[in-house]
Amino acid sequence: MNYQQIYELESKYNSGGVGRRPIAIVKAKGSRLWDSEGNEYIDCAGAQGWANVGHSHPLVTAAIQTQLETYVAGQESSYNDQRALWMRDMAEVLEDSLGWSDSYLHLSNSGTEAIEAALKFARFSTGRTSIVATMRAFHGRTMGALSITANKKYKKPFEPLIPNVGHVVYDNLEAMDKAIGDDTAAVIIELVQGEGGVHLGSRAYFQSLRELCNQRGALLIIDEIQTGVGRTGRWLACEHHALSPDVVCLGKSIGGGLPMGVTAWRSEVGRFKPGLHGSTFGGNPLVCAASRAVIEVMATEKLAERAARLGQWLQEELRSLESTQIRGVRGLGLMIGLELRSKVTPVLQKLMGRGVWALPAGLNVLRLLPPLVIEQSDLEQVIETIGEVLN
Ligand code: PLP
Repeated sequence: MNYQQIYELESKYNSGGVGRRPIAIVKAKGSRLWDSEGNEYIDCAGAQGWANVGHSHPLVTAAIQTQLETYVAGQESSYNDQRALWMRDMAEVLEDSLGWSDSYLHLSNSGTEAIEAALKFARFSTGRTSIVATMRAFHGRTMGALSITANKKYKKPFEPLIPNVGHVVYDNLEAMDKAIGDDTAAVIIELVQGEGGVHLGSRAYFQSLRELCNQRGALLIIDEIQTGVGRTGRWLACEHHALSPDVVCLGKSIGGGLPMGVTAWRSEVGRFKPGLHGSTFGGNPLVCAASRAVIEVMATEKLAERAARLGQWLQEELRSLESTQIRGVRGLGLMIGLELRSKVTPVLQKLMGRGVWALPAGLNVLRLLPPLVIEQSDLEQVIETIGEVLN
């Protein structure tokens, strides 16, 4: 099918909820994308941040193919070998990254569902009702996750959302101190705000927040849906701050391209009772096999270390671009924001015309989330193209 045919069909039927670029991507491999007309792009969006191990990584593809012929999706109410092995592997990662001696894992099908489970668990385990989130936060679009997301544009048409949610200034301990009360079930926060503009919080802030939550009996939930799986140069961004939260949410890259959400918590904070939460496809054998391969690839190819090295180099190169349009560069690992003095959309369009697919973060930040397997030479091309477009 050519672009026109694809466009006409999709435009006729799609819900209208998602804005689309005038391109149909039909193939991807590693950090490259191809459109219906045969044009090639460097994927600097990591396919919206889910492709940390790259598109169709051979090990992930092989794991999926084998599992496809064995057992695709079963029932949550039976045990399964792939799920059991995945749980063991994931718990090892959590122990290494966060120091949790034991963890409990709830499996779902998206980042937003991982957040929903965390909110339900926080209310259930603390017996409290309210949640404190931060301004500029993005946690997803289902009713609970949307309630703790900050952007009014996403929320307004769907109100009333869940009650007892407060939003406070990010990286400001005083604001948290005032907001966390006797009825606070949990505080939820991103360690790098992705959608909100690639903003980083400080180590002192996160560590003091940990203490505050301990003192007040509120759970600390870290949303690692975008920052996790090596994106920031560590398996989990928590490691940068020696932070051990109570609950961690994962999504995007953890499924290697298959839909997966993970809500993990340290065992000391409790466990759901049977019947309280579940999902037909959550933890299906196919996605667990894919995710086990992701965990393996992360270790064998040392992708977190690669993200740290390439990310630092990329930030330095971007800082040395001479353009009056650039207000600043910030980021962690391969999660990078280039703040512009102008709107980002026209810049994204020009980049796309020159074979670079990047993301916005807010109105004026160009966000780069390339697959962690991307070649340095591809990034050199990206830097050159950004330089050309901005000048
Ligand atoms: N939390 C964060 C930090 C995200 O970046 C996203 C998605 O962009 C979500 C939650 C929601 O994840 P999903 O779109 O997979 O439901």
